[in-house]
Amino acid sequence: MTAVRIDGKAIAAELREKIAAEAQTLIGETGVVPGIAVVIVGEDPASKVYVASKGKAAKECHFHSVEHSLCADVGEAELLSLIEELNGDDAIHGILVQLPLPDHIDESKVLNLIRPDKDVDGFHPINVGLLTAGERDKAMVPCTPAGSLILAKRAIGNLSGKDAVVIGRSNIVGKPMAALLLAESCTVTIAHSRTKDLPDVVRRADIVVAAVGRPEMIKGDWIKKGALVIDVGINRIPAPERGEGKTRLVGDVEFDSAAENAGHITPVPGGVGPMTIALLMANTLTAARRKAGLDDLDYAALLG
Ligand code: NDP
Repeated sequence: MTAVRIDGKAIAAELREKIAAEAQTLIGETGVVPGIAVVIVGEDPASKVYVASKGKAAKECHFHSVEHSLCADVGEAELLSLIEELNGDDAIHGILVQLPLPDHIDESKVLNLIRPDKDVDGFHPINVGLLTAGERDKAMVPCTPAGSLILAKRAIGNLSGKDAVVIGRSNIVGKPMAALLLAESCTVTIAHSRTKDLPDVVRRADIVVAAVGRPEMIKGDWIKKGALVIDVGINRIPAPERGEGKTRLVGDVEFDSAAENAGHITPVPGGVGPMTIALLMANTLTAARRKAGLDDLDYAALLG
């Protein structure tokens, strides 16, 4: 391996510590305690793990944190009325609805009801619009792309003029990631399942962000020498070498071969994943500070 391995776990822990200190200052100076409500519907084991980690991080950051667990067969109207209630609750600055929702619930109806200033996931059309219009300082930015950008800037500094390829065009990762890289003055290509000659497209990139959801699809020989590789993918694959029925997590990038060519690369696990939760805390603190009439913090700068 020649690439520098970007330690997202350590950087996220550092960021959470800074956020906890800033939250304590906010509480001491204004009495405002940042509050987050996480809503989970059903029993999906992966979602439950994510929600538990979010609750734990919120407590570490001295936030007021509440969890609403609803049955998988909860009616849409009941979920919508909970969102209305949280929208009106002054102790709650951030609302997060864990996705995916069961099929009988209209996801966009739920997400669009969350007040944009409490939309710490950054999925509301108002926040999507602000980010796309270059008004990032007024938006709530989705956590995974925001965390990925911090890792990228920490690894290589100024991104201006770099050729960036984002593989994946989801509303959650690919599109907001591309908007953030464009705002950093990268030349951005968004690739997807219909992209022709994907290996050639990737080979041109100084920055590769993989958000596909296909285990180890991006091969090492697609990576330009010295490129920065941010692997957002989280894929669980069988690991018979660990015992019968065991599994392990891998990214969308074939790590070992990509690390031979890349200059910097994020591992899976321990790369982007922990940053997502840290940025959720950052967004909640931002929502609380905005409500108190305070400026946003520059979280990349806080890390030094
Ligand atoms: P989606 O399934 O919503 O989007 C996947 C994207 O990949 C689509 O745009 C799709 O293209 C594209 N794609 C699929 N197959 C190919 C292919 N063969 N070649 C090129 N592009 C392809 O996934 P998400 O964006 O929600 O998530 C992506 C990955 O990131 C997943 O592994 C997910 O688990 C992970 N993730 C990790 C997070 C973290 O905290 N680290 C947070 C969120 C997600 P098309 O649009 O044409 O179908």
